[in-house]
Amino acid sequence: MAIDYQSLAVRGVQALSPYQPGKPIEELARELGLNPAEIIKLASNENPLGPSEKALEAARQALSELCLYPDGNGFNLKQALSKRLNVGMDQITLGNGSNDVLEVITRCFADADSEVVFSQYAFAVYPLVTQAIDAKGVSVPAREWGHDLDAMAEAVTDRTRLVFVANPNNPTGTVHTAEAIESFLKKIPENVLVVLDEAYCEYLTGDQYPDGVELLDRFPNLIVCRTFSKAWGLAALRVGYSISSPAIADILNRVRQPFNVDTVALSAATAVLEDEEYLQRSRDVNTAGLRQLQDAFDRMGLSYIPSAGNFVAVEVGEQAMGVYQSLLAHGVIVRPIAGYGMPRHLRVSVGLPEENERFIEALAQALTASGLSD
Ligand SMILES: *Cc1c(COP(=O)(O)O)cnc(C)c1O
Repeated sequence: MAIDYQSLAVRGVQALSPYQPGKPIEELARELGLNPAEIIKLASNENPLGPSEKALEAARQALSELCLYPDGNGFNLKQALSKRLNVGMDQITLGNGSNDVLEVITRCFADADSEVVFSQYAFAVYPLVTQAIDAKGVSVPAREWGHDLDAMAEAVTDRTRLVFVANPNNPTGTVHTAEAIESFLKKIPENVLVVLDEAYCEYLTGDQYPDGVELLDRFPNLIVCRTFSKAWGLAALRVGYSISSPAIADILNRVRQPFNVDTVALSAATAVLEDEEYLQRSRDVNTAGLRQLQDAFDRMGLSYIPSAGNFVAVEVGEQAMGVYQSLLAHGVIVRPIAGYGMPRHLRVSVGLPEENERFIEALAQALTASGLSD
């Protein structure tokens, strides 16, 4: 009898379904015979500005070192982050994207006997990394699409090892104030780690929102995760990091791959931290683009979840997949989020003004075609 090799996989992995990324431009071009230059991708919350010139220049220079292993400690990048964030270098753990850090955290602090708490509609990676180690994921029903922080605190049991909080959250764009996050943290037992995922924190405007790093002194069970993939515009290079107590960082650094961030990525990320002008432009383009999209939805009578990120989830109704397909045919890639339990919504990332406009026009046509415009 032939062996079913899939049955040999460890239990958590057998039940795993892989992360569904946004459709790549090249793939759509192949499928529809379109010119890749005419396709716009507003599907993965990428920075529409293109990379920072400073990052590009540093990346080019790093190419001459391709035959050498990277600095496994990421000294220069950690030093730059440590200055910028006013934390010790020993509090930082670098990752191959913050996804890598989220996974390492889970493997370090939870196992098959643990419970891991996250919100309904929260970032897909939390249930995924939980499932991979066969821990029990506890998905807490959302409140108005956002995290119900009170219910999440109540969901903590003596088996809970980790709680994931995305602030702002992807794909809903919901955000909690500093006050709400602090009162939540006060309710979580000290031996339960809270992962505050701040992938979109650079886009926040207004001082009512928390800076996770400032909470670390008061909440030693806190781990803050951030990324270079969004506002810093380096998604392809895969660089993310966490900031925690030195004790937690020491554990994470034992388990991460020794060279998990490559030389080009380290150099570009270190350089982009000097490009304050780029960051400001990222924010400005995002603020204007969010307004452009949300105003258009208002005009079209579509409801959407007001977003604090660089994307918006808009409700297009039962035929969301049809609308998605129709947008693809117009060369516009957005993200269906039925996999998040939001089958009536599509998530669109903020693009440049002309990209947003093209999306809005294509959406209007798609809705007319599916008879949903009225
Ligand atoms: C995009 C995103 C990340 C970051 O992913 P990287 O692996 O750093 O590219 C983390 N958390 C959330 C909620 C995100 O949306």
